[in-house]
Amino acid sequence: MNAQNAMVYVEDVHKKFGHLEVLRGITLEVQKGQTIVIIGPSGSGKSTLLRCINHLEKVDSGRIYLEGHLVGYKEVNGRLVELPPKAVARQRAEIGMVFQRFNLFSHMTALENVIEAPIHVRGVPKKQAIEEGLSLLSKVGLADKANNYPSQLSGGQQQRVAIARALAMHPKVMLFDEPTSALDPELVGEVLTVMENLAYEGMTMIVVTHEMGFAREVADEVVFMDHGVILEQGKPEDIFSNPQHERTRTFLRAIL
Ligand code: ADP
Ligand code: MG
Repeated sequence: MNAQNAMVYVEDVHKKFGHLEVLRGITLEVQKGQTIVIIGPSGSGKSTLLRCINHLEKVDSGRIYLEGHLVGYKEVNGRLVELPPKAVARQRAEIGMVFQRFNLFSHMTALENVIEAPIHVRGVPKKQAIEEGLSLLSKVGLADKANNYPSQLSGGQQQRVAIARALAMHPKVMLFDEPTSALDPELVGEVLTVMENLAYEGMTMIVVTHEMGFAREVADEVVFMDHGVILEQGKPEDIFSNPQHERTRTFLRAIL
């Protein structure tokens, strides 16, 4: 396996906000079917990295590839030219994203939330979108909530709808940014279970989380970010039982 056939390949990405260097040379390879968990202190650049991967943020330098295709840019005579919005939207449709806040459309039922993008972005016939939407809702354990509005659902249920909504676009990769951080503790498990099942079904996932149990059980690799760099990366058992850097040890002591 190498960068060319990786599902996601992040190559030496730099990103500043004003004078603040938020990403300082990130290189990360994610193979098809892998689950990568990113951990690290607040402000280390985890969310920015995810947002660069789906081109919600522009990188200052470096490149990001999805299945070998540049994300957000095309190469013209050796220079990078940003893709037009439509082409960016097409790429973004291949990348599912689930945020800390559930971001459901409040005026739409669970099912309507799930079928909206397939119908309007992908042009899937309504009947087919509904069938598939219902099957996705049942996959996340919400078959009986299809007609409920977000306000009638718990945070954990809303987050599972958000996952079903992302899956409805048949993404090549799913990005999760602290998907359980806003949930009451008793609702965390139901969301992690859905994510765990997805990982075992072979979905490619990049997950920012503080749930170390999930990282231990599900991650193929754990990446520790600090101040905009990847300080260390490895199998969960190695990172957790034998971290190489003092900063990794300090971070793990603080959260475990
Ligand atoms: P993390 O997700 O690891 O907590 P973030 O990627 O959210 O870190 O943020 C990294 C740093 O970049 C923080 O100092 C944050 O304040 C800053 N930052 C993030 N987004 C913006 C933005 N749009 N404008 C200015 N600064 C930002
Ligand atoms: Mg963040």
